[in-house]
Amino acid sequence: MDLVEIASKHILLQQSRKALKGRCPFHNDETTSLMIIAQSNYFKCMGCGAEGGPVEFLMLIDGKSRNEVVSQLAKQEFSV
Ligand SMILES: [Zn+2]
Repeated sequence: MDLVEIASKHILLQQSRKALKGRCPFHNDETTSLMIIAQSNYFKCMGCGAEGGPVEFLMLIDGKSRNEVVSQLAKQEFSV
């Protein structure tokens, strides 16, 4: 699961020196508080403190539980 690919469907990402940056979709973000470290498949927001990997991103953005996200992803993998 590629966090950058998932996140770029929801937010506009800008390349900065160390990481990708974007407006955090999890709080009212006036700047680009959300950092995504592609190598680690990890995100962190400096504004609201949201952090995690692809599963956490989808949980927060869709308001779903971990089980829902995991089973949704499993279905997608089977259907490919
Ligand atoms: Zn945030």
